[in-house]
Amino acid sequence: MKKTVIVTGSSKGIGAATAILFARQGYNVVINYNESYESANLLCRSLVGNGYSVITQKANVANRLETDLMVKETLYKFGSVDVLVNNAGVAYQGLITETDEIDFDRIIDINLKGVFNCCKSVTPVMVNQKAGTIINISSMWGQVGASCEVAYSAAKAGVIGLTKALAKELAPSGITVNAIAPGLIETNMNAHLTVEELNDFVNEIPLGRMGNADEIAAVAYFLASEAAEYITGQVLGVNGGYVI
Ligand code: NAP
Repeated sequence: MKKTVIVTGSSKGIGAATAILFARQGYNVVINYNESYESANLLCRSLVGNGYSVITQKANVANRLETDLMVKETLYKFGSVDVLVNNAGVAYQGLITETDEIDFDRIIDINLKGVFNCCKSVTPVMVNQKAGTIINISSMWGQVGASCEVAYSAAKAGVIGLTKALAKELAPSGITVNAIAPGLIETNMNAHLTVEELNDFVNEIPLGRMGNADEIAAVAYFLASEAAEYITGQVLGVNGGYVI
């Protein structure tokens, strides 16, 4: 039977690359989006046009009712949820003195509570199946902390803690839970950086370049594959050697 993956935040960037790769590998794919209705549906139409099995589902990952509904709709359409890629995320840069409580709560709600919500919505399904794979997209800033990104670094560090705890909790049910900690990846998330800022950053990366979304998608696909079935609770750094 065909496997099904939900990729949160797959209207663009790393999520879109992940949705495309899983579709090409024969998965039923749920493209989740929150605001980007048009790009999500454009991607969906182009994949369906090429014969792949793909739907879109709007859900704000920060809202449990909406993540529950997303899983319900997925089950209704495809009958199982075999892989969940928790990719949805937003960045925030600012000194702590400029970061107010509302900013902090928003970053935690989407980047950390969003992962919790989707895991919570999908866990009963995977436990019932006695199989499943959860892949959480953290960040190298969750491993080492970024200056002027207190909220984002805290959220992404939280994702790593959640990954490790949930891996232990769900292993007896045949479910693996891992995290990917990307470095600097060429997506809209970094579009605000000037050429000079990018060059300075790239100069610090041992492999001498930014990563691309396909390189994160490939690691997510590997973690969902049979080759990775003995891997759980791990954090895979995909950062060109920036954090070793
Ligand atoms: P991106 O191009 O800005 O895409 C972010 C995605 O998240 C969009 O599809 C967006 O969908 C979705 N999203 C945002 N808020 C959402 C919400 N409340 N509910 C559902 N979806 C939501 O960024 P990206 O670079 O691909 O980032 C993907 C993940 O990788 C994020 O978790 C990010 O923190 C992580 N990451 C990125 C980098 C990097 O350098 N790019 C490095 C480390 C980690 P809508 O537009 O539809 O809301």
